[in-house]
Amino acid sequence: MTGRTVTGRTAAGRAAAGQAVTGQAVTGQAVTGQAVTGQAVTGPGGTSEPVLELVGVTKTYPGSPPVSALASADLRISAGERVAVLGPSGSGKSTLLHILGTLDRPTSGVIRVTGRDISALSDAEVSAIRGHQLGFVFQQFFLLDHLDAVGNVALGLLYRGGGARQRRLAAIGALEQVGLGHRLGHRPPELSGGERQRVAIARAVAGQASVVLADEPTGNLDSATGAGIIALLTEIASEGTAVVVVTHDAGIAAAMDRRVEMRDGRILSDTRPCAPATVAAGTPQRS
Ligand code: ADP
Ligand code: MG
Repeated sequence: MTGRTVTGRTAAGRAAAGQAVTGQAVTGQAVTGQAVTGQAVTGPGGTSEPVLELVGVTKTYPGSPPVSALASADLRISAGERVAVLGPSGSGKSTLLHILGTLDRPTSGVIRVTGRDISALSDAEVSAIRGHQLGFVFQQFFLLDHLDAVGNVALGLLYRGGGARQRRLAAIGALEQVGLGHRLGHRPPELSGGERQRVAIARAVAGQASVVLADEPTGNLDSATGAGIIALLTEIASEGTAVVVVTHDAGIAAAMDRRVEMRDGRILSDTRPCAPATVAAGTPQRS
């Protein structure tokens, strides 16, 4: 790190860069004591302890009229699950992902990260949990242009402890895993879109997060590059890392263990295709 101050970035960007996210509005944390509803999901992974859990979570944006972006969502993500989140634009996918990622507080309901209810925790405590447990791959990459690829990935490892040298070595290892061993010293403006997204994946997986959250990570990429990115993400997330991907791509969704479909802020269906297929390169994209 160079010690430069990064200002004006979004909470997601700062979180992705391993920085503390503070000062977010905390809206009424009305915990209603609802029972943990079991999802109608069976099969491998469905029975283990959830790494991420939402219970009766709502998110309402103020306005006239207010927008109910998320309405009483119940969701349990188990270790190692690969989950696709689908739905039309405006259905609440990003809101769901931001709340799952603790980047935004819900209006009501409970969020547990590896079993820990985060509603009573301070922003600093939540940032620490986020840094340890969660990795982010968003469409806009959120890479810092003044750091090279190694620097960007190493920055995401700050919460992991260890010295700067260890972080750099881990970052180099992750970049080699995503096929960027020959681009270690390149800064984001010197990389292609697909390469930048691979740096973001390296950063998300290098810290061995419990869950990697990806919000339309292939939206800016051509379809073949996009399919490769998702295949890479699901391959290199270490065993036990859950992956939640918002995607418009039916081919990508079909390759996941589980599909969560959203409409108007509600989870419309939550299903597991019988046999996950493999992600085919060149799958057409609608986004
Ligand atoms: P998706 O990712 O599925 O396109 P979003 O989660 O981004 O949907 O948005 C869900 C709904 O919430 C939309 O109607 C959107 O306009 C609204 N919304 C999202 N963010 C805000 C915000 N910060 N303030 C007000 N309304 C918002
Ligand atoms: Mg969105």
